[in-house]
Amino acid sequence: MTKKEKQKFLVVANWKMNPVSGKLAKQIFSSVKKVSNKLRNIDTVICPPYIFMENMKTSGHRFVLGAQDLFAEPEGSFTGNISYIQLKNLGVKYSLIGHSEKRKEGETNQSINEKVKASLKGMIVPIICIGEDKRDEAGEYLKFIKDQLVSSLVGLSKNSIKDIVIAYEPIWAIGKDAKREPTTSEIFEMNIFIKKVLSDIYDTKSVPPTKILYGGSVNEKNIESILKDGGVDGVLVGRASLDPKKFIEILKKAENLNK
Ligand code: PEP
Repeated sequence: MTKKEKQKFLVVANWKMNPVSGKLAKQIFSSVKKVSNKLRNIDTVICPPYIFMENMKTSGHRFVLGAQDLFAEPEGSFTGNISYIQLKNLGVKYSLIGHSEKRKEGETNQSINEKVKASLKGMIVPIICIGEDKRDEAGEYLKFIKDQLVSSLVGLSKNSIKDIVIAYEPIWAIGKDAKREPTTSEIFEMNIFIKKVLSDIYDTKSVPPTKILYGGSVNEKNIESILKDGGVDGVLVGRASLDPKKFIEILKKAENLNK
């Protein structure tokens, strides 16, 4: 990247299993789209439930659709699943993989690795979610994060690390039951740690080109300090992405920081 090409922040909205109707989904989507189309310095990804995707028309490459998960087989007898090819054909550009809520349902490091490979095959950027459920003074959580990262990348070439995104989402900071928000120093340290693990795996001399996001209770009040002091390349937003007013404020603040 030359000095002139400033890297854009990536802001990803994870709607999870919300909202309850297509009408409401359309309302949120349209409000965000209207603003997003005017923003020049950030990339926005909306990850709605699959059922709403067909009715969500994105425009350009700065405001795109993401999936919350994908299935690693292209087609066939896999009841209830959505394949990476189906998503690709729908115009989906990104997919969350290994979100902590999917891991809780039984997603394993191995299935995550298979999904990452399938995602890349389908030209969908995998957003690999990693994060510990608690911190300990001995630093065991660092080993845990490293294991998650290493196992999700098994078999991936050095060339593909520019095509993936890592979302660091400490489970203790996610959702309405979050224990606390991490400090920006904690986010900063983890950002460096993830980059170091990637450099070690791929033996890169320079900083790996992989985008690192932070996720967990991001809102319109903390977005600026997370991006400025946390040093991350963007954020993954859950609850606040369902409130168009809050989400638009997040987008605008991220846009202004990047000017
Ligand atoms: C998430 O679960 O991915 C998330 C970031 O949620 P929230 O922003 O609501 O903590």
